Amino acid sequence: MDISNRSDINLMGKTVAILGIGKSGIAAAKLGKEMGADIFISDLNESSEINASLNALAELGIAGETGIHSDRIQKSDLVVVSPGIPKHAEVLTKAKSNGIPISGEIEFASWFTNAPIAAVTGSNGKTTTVHLLNEMCSTDTFNSHLAGNIGFPFSEAVLQDIKKPDGNRIYILEISSFQMEFTHHFCPHISVFLNISPDHLDRHADMDEYVSEKLKLAERQTEKDFIVYNLDDAILSSAFNGSTATACPFSLGPDGKIFGLNESKIFDEEHATLIDLDRIALPGRHNLANQLAAASAAHLLGVDHSHISRVMESFAGVEHRLEAVMDIQGVTYINDSKATNVDAVNVALESLSTPTILILGGIDKGGDFTLLLPHTHNHLKEVIAYGQARNQIQTAIGDAVRFTSVENLMDAVTVSHAHAENGYSVLLSPGCSSFDQFQNFEERGSVFKQAVAQLAKSA
Ligand code: ADP
Repeated sequence: MDISNRSDINLMGKTVAILGIGKSGIAAAKLGKEMGADIFISDLNESSEINASLNALAELGIAGETGIHSDRIQKSDLVVVSPGIPKHAEVLTKAKSNGIPISGEIEFASWFTNAPIAAVTGSNGKTTTVHLLNEMCSTDTFNSHLAGNIGFPFSEAVLQDIKKPDGNRIYILEISSFQMEFTHHFCPHISVFLNISPDHLDRHADMDEYVSEKLKLAERQTEKDFIVYNLDDAILSSAFNGSTATACPFSLGPDGKIFGLNESKIFDEEHATLIDLDRIALPGRHNLANQLAAASAAHLLGVDHSHISRVMESFAGVEHRLEAVMDIQGVTYINDSKATNVDAVNVALESLSTPTILILGGIDKGGDFTLLLPHTHNHLKEVIAYGQARNQIQTAIGDAVRFTSVENLMDAVTVSHAHAENGYSVLLSPGCSSFDQFQNFEERGSVFKQAVAQLAKSA
């Protein structure tokens, strides 16, 4: 099948193999079927959950297999790959050598809509920023649809719109570096780049590969499009010199193109106040950067500044990101379970000024925990490490600060309660992925919140 010309792509009667029976794969399968393709879905995992999904798809007339990528895949007209599958997986190498075109799930979904897209990428802050932008775009002019890496696949959003079209549609997409693999035509009207720090180095060959996958988001943009990017980021600051699309940098200094910042307010191009900083609901300098990114994109889409500032005043954040859980006997417990890399831990510590006990742990993703050491000169009073990465964390932290190693998160909460003094914060900002002890970061955050609630009952 020839996919080189986007407008000629037609799935009617084609055989399409979808790899991965997770949310993205399932959504792509349904979308492909709607577009007239004969779908075959395949996953190496044969857990009961995956098999249940396969059975549910069978009821919709979608065939598939688990525990194997059989040769049937190699006879397809097209392969659509979920972001969870490594790009050098054998099944993909084979498909490539058989001359079968391979498309990522985001790319695949994008073939079936012409609505404008604002796509947000970066190492940290994506979810917060897309939620902000989505609220900023909830106006009479737009009907925004939030999708992508947030847990609601783009394919599902597009399928909903095919079934029930909306003329004012704009897609706000959260895009991870993995979702940029196997893209061919995908081109947002506005690309937003928040920051680039080492993350997922366990899966990307090196930092250069990680950076180039992220920058691909702007690669096909034309002079009608916009790139909103963080001028304060060492890599991003010079990444778009000479780009065809209009570059719109934002900054925590005065040099933003659309909005500027001083000690007390954000101002617009006419130097009129957008908002006083003390009226912004979200805490932390990093969140200010997220706000400027979202506000710049909303401005480019034509959203009124008064509406942008109203959202800034009311938006209280997303669960599991610096979420204040409760105060127990003068100690504030904070759930930042989404902090899966060291950079996110750093900004969490920077956003606090109270003496802090930090809970780290899980599966290490190649991050450098020594980067946290400067905080031991300020308010970081103790590190409690749990899970698979705890020895590695101990080696990095050494004796710079009080250190306790425990088996699991529940034990970490118990120890933090015993060690915390009046006025302290206990911060779960693990800096690792969660999969050694939890399904995902949401479960990790919920277990933390339950453990804290338990403490409150017995306190
Ligand atoms: P993502 O979707 O990119 O993982 P989130 O909004 O879910 O981003 O936030 C993930 C973690 O990163 C949280 O711990 C949050 O406090 C932190 N964070 C949010 N915004 C930024 C930023 N601009 N720079 C660094 N860290 C951030």
